[in-house]
Amino acid sequence: MAAKMIDCPSCHHHGIGIVFSPGSPMMEGLLWLLIFPGIMYTIWRRSNRRVICPNCSTEFMLPSIF
Ligand SMILES: [Zn+2]
Repeated sequence: MAAKMIDCPSCHHHGIGIVFSPGSPMMEGLLWLLIFPGIMYTIWRRSNRRVICPNCSTEFMLPSIF
């Protein structure tokens, strides 16, 4: 999990954002037993990964320039 400095447009939080992946690691593990669905699920989770605000959970983060 990489930390990213963010500026929240909603609550004006400035600091480290949380990297959030949709779905669950447990589901991912189960699907990997079937190989192909596991690959698809992992790709889906990776491509939908986003940084959210630790304060108000807003998804639309502006990367901080500082
Ligand atoms: Zn916020």
